[in-house]
Amino acid sequence: MMFKILMSACLCGEHCRYDGKANTIENKIMNTWKEEGRIVMVCPEMAGGLPVPRDPAEIIGNKVISKSGRDVTSEYTEGAGEALRLARENDVIFCIMKENSPSCGSHEVYDGTFSGKKVFGMGIAAAMLEENGFRVYNEHQIIEAYRELDEAEYEEEMYEAVMNLRF
Ligand code: SF4
Repeated sequence: MMFKILMSACLCGEHCRYDGKANTIENKIMNTWKEEGRIVMVCPEMAGGLPVPRDPAEIIGNKVISKSGRDVTSEYTEGAGEALRLARENDVIFCIMKENSPSCGSHEVYDGTFSGKKVFGMGIAAAMLEENGFRVYNEHQIIEAYRELDEAEYEEEMYEAVMNLRF
């Protein structure tokens, strides 16, 4: 079995950010994962039905509110559910999601004042993935993620070797 990686689409070069831009990561590890066909891309905000470009939004209490004041909690929740569905259906071992996003952030998000201030916290999709057992790394933790994948593949190979000896 080849372990897959669920990744924020904007990190893979998709222009799906609120402003129509991407947050492309380019390095050797990413290139290898792409060539191996390991990456499952998702943009939870688009998966929840939001367009590009769109109004930026931030988490305020238990809601997600756009800069113009629209409650977009249901779109964010639906997109998070889609990210979880993709992770469950694709042998995903872990996720790599864009830090600070109200959907994909895994350590820090903006504080809800649209002033650029950040607070500890997780985006809606990242939190749902973690609650359901999928570890979420951010784009600054690619090497850590690479090590986890390497170890998991080694264990899988050892397991298969032992099973082949027994049967
Ligand atoms: Fe990128 Fe996630 Fe925002 Fe989509 S929702 S643009 S994948 S950070």
